[in-house]
Amino acid sequence: MAQQEDVFKKIVSHCKEYGFVFPSSDIYDGLGAVYDYGQNGVELKNNIKKYWWESMVLLHENIVGIDAAIFMHPTTWKASGHVDAFNDPLIDNRDSKKRYRADVLIEDKMAKYDEQIEKEVAKAAKRFKENFDEAQYRATSPKVQELAEKRDALHKRFQEVMNAEGGIDLAGMKQIIEDEEIVCPISGTRNWTDVRQFNLMFSTEMGAAAEGTSKVYLRPETAQGIFVNYLNVQKTGRMKLPFGIAQIGKAFRNEIVARQFIFRMREFEQMEMQFFVKPGTELDWFQKWKETRMKWHQNLGFGAENYRFHDHDKLAHYANAATDIEFHMPFGFKEVEGIHSRTNFDLSQHAKYCGKKIEYFDPEMNQSYVPYVIETSIGVDRMFLSIMCHSYEEQQLEGGQTRTVLHLPAALAPVKLAVFPLTKKDGMPEKAMEIINDLRFHFNCKYEEKDQIGKRYRRMDAIGCPYCVTVDQQTLEDNTVTLRDRDTMEQRRVNIADLRGIIEDKVSITSLLKNLL
Ligand code: ATP
Repeated sequence: MAQQEDVFKKIVSHCKEYGFVFPSSDIYDGLGAVYDYGQNGVELKNNIKKYWWESMVLLHENIVGIDAAIFMHPTTWKASGHVDAFNDPLIDNRDSKKRYRADVLIEDKMAKYDEQIEKEVAKAAKRFKENFDEAQYRATSPKVQELAEKRDALHKRFQEVMNAEGGIDLAGMKQIIEDEEIVCPISGTRNWTDVRQFNLMFSTEMGAAAEGTSKVYLRPETAQGIFVNYLNVQKTGRMKLPFGIAQIGKAFRNEIVARQFIFRMREFEQMEMQFFVKPGTELDWFQKWKETRMKWHQNLGFGAENYRFHDHDKLAHYANAATDIEFHMPFGFKEVEGIHSRTNFDLSQHAKYCGKKIEYFDPEMNQSYVPYVIETSIGVDRMFLSIMCHSYEEQQLEGGQTRTVLHLPAALAPVKLAVFPLTKKDGMPEKAMEIINDLRFHFNCKYEEKDQIGKRYRRMDAIGCPYCVTVDQQTLEDNTVTLRDRDTMEQRRVNIADLRGIIEDKVSITSLLKNLL
């Protein structure tokens, strides 16, 4: 674990050193859980968004996009339930003065029981070697049984307090923390305050004071911008059910605990798609979207073993199914995307609050109804982080050297091709620029002439550039260059005229999209 934490720290500093992610307002020592994307980060981020957007809007005849404003009529958030219920239970440790989400402390404790069980199993597997029957051991080992019982009992209590009548049972939650003897990871003590509710929405005033101001919120999710536009899009696009509306945009949450770099931010970006369906068909669509979204993730080639579904224990009162797609980060399996079957809750609530009908006229049934909704909701920044974590490698090379390389999927890499003149004379820089000028319309190219070639390769490895080309004396004679591959480090001689053909397909988002069909 300590090693994994080290890796994570290295990724964070790598992100800063190579222009991917900077702390916000860095010269003023940053702002808590707010980050800026640098020259390479913005390219990677744009590519992630493009991959998502095109997989939704380009590949689906019945999905269209919108771009709604961040500010929305304040009643939106009353109707959606965010004013009354978008709360996290928080608890402070009096000794460390650190603030935690009480539900997360309990979830971590459950995960600890699971970890202990896996440790026991691993120990036994080592002891019994080839005679080890894992299923039997799990079913009969008293130690494993005891841990599993504790975990299950905790799980049951947790569900009860989370689903208590009238909202989360805060006192019950505190009791669990005491009974389970959960300590603060910083101070190691159990000196806790009571558990309190904390609303996560940021608010501000709109309008000049003289004309009267009104309180508006910074949207905590992009989804509501889609719901309030359902009728506009359905009517103007003459959309037939089932159909979807996709949106990418900023969201804001005043997160209580925001310590894991861009995993949990106060200002972040979401890619959400609401898919409107006929009531009664929603669970089939839920299943379909689970599969479609998992395929989108796995298509990046990070290995199926690094993903899993986590079905929700605690369903929001309006949802009839919910799951998370979790990715194996250096700090464990963590949610990257949520898929929710939201029934007709949101549209019905908005209809109630605005006093207008928000329905769909079904020509086949000759009847109107409020559509049901399946939502897929993914954080751009979390996706970015998962890609960074998986791509980062400190590779040992022959001869005792190491190189830091980002094995980014070529289609997402910020720079696709770097072109180096071997020296700054004999017309090599001009030749290199000629190559770039020819290819820059097709993909992102970068010119580099500083330092020796080996160092230039390393710099490109560190930003995940999949291809480097070197222009040398021979180029001037026969128009060939050395093309070097980031991952294998192999170099081969190719004709300048062939470069586009070799590279373009591999680095285009289209190459990724084609595998999704
Ligand atoms: P969590 O349980 O981690 O707080 P959530 O269940 O509240 O997340 P949703 O409301 O389902 O998250 O939001 C959908 C997606 O938006 C998440 O899967 C995540 O990728 C992203 N997201 C949510 N909150 C944040 C945040 N504070 N910073 C970055 N991304 C976020």
